[in-house]
Amino acid sequence: MTRAHTYIDSELHLLCSACRKMVPHTRFNNNAKRGFGKQSRCKDCHMKLRKENDKKYYKRNKEKIAARVKKYRENNQEAIKAAIKAYQIKNRDRINERKRAHRNANLEEYKKKEAAWRAGRKDIIKEKNRLWRETHQDEIKKARKQWYETNKERHLKNHRVWLTENPDYQRNYYYKNKKRIKVNQKRYLDKLKKENQNDS
Ligand SMILES: [Zn+2]
Repeated sequence: MTRAHTYIDSELHLLCSACRKMVPHTRFNNNAKRGFGKQSRCKDCHMKLRKENDKKYYKRNKEKIAARVKKYRENNQEAIKAAIKAYQIKNRDRINERKRAHRNANLEEYKKKEAAWRAGRKDIIKEKNRLWRETHQDEIKKARKQWYETNKERHLKNHRVWLTENPDYQRNYYYKNKKRIKVNQKRYLDKLKKENQNDS
């Protein structure tokens, strides 16, 4: 039985068994067993059917496929990492451009995220520094003392120069810390008194 066909503008057209349309013969895949050496379904219908079947297959075997992918990833970690790295190097400009475009399209969201990240880092760094200081108290004291000893002359000289250049400072400092200074003076005088009493 010959297959249903026709010629349009002298080009052979075959009936597609799926969409039931006359389709140019070049739009069929080859199959020697079928009439005119072409498959019964046109390429479009073939593709459509394949996609549907793939979808059905995936739905039916979701867990199995996920497990297979997971196992493959676990067995090929290094190779996958290397492939990703190679891809990133090869496509660096394109990837950066895409990132930039995405960032510009979502600027507010990005700014919020970046600020949150920075704030989070700040706390982490603060805590790290605090822990370090806590466990290195003696070293810090020693270093501070040493720094003071080696820089004493320079430091005092600088301070004296600075005070002559900022005559208001001493006066302001006194007003600002009047209470504290008086308490210290009193404490110092009391101490002197006590020492005198002990001496006599
Ligand atoms: Zn078709």
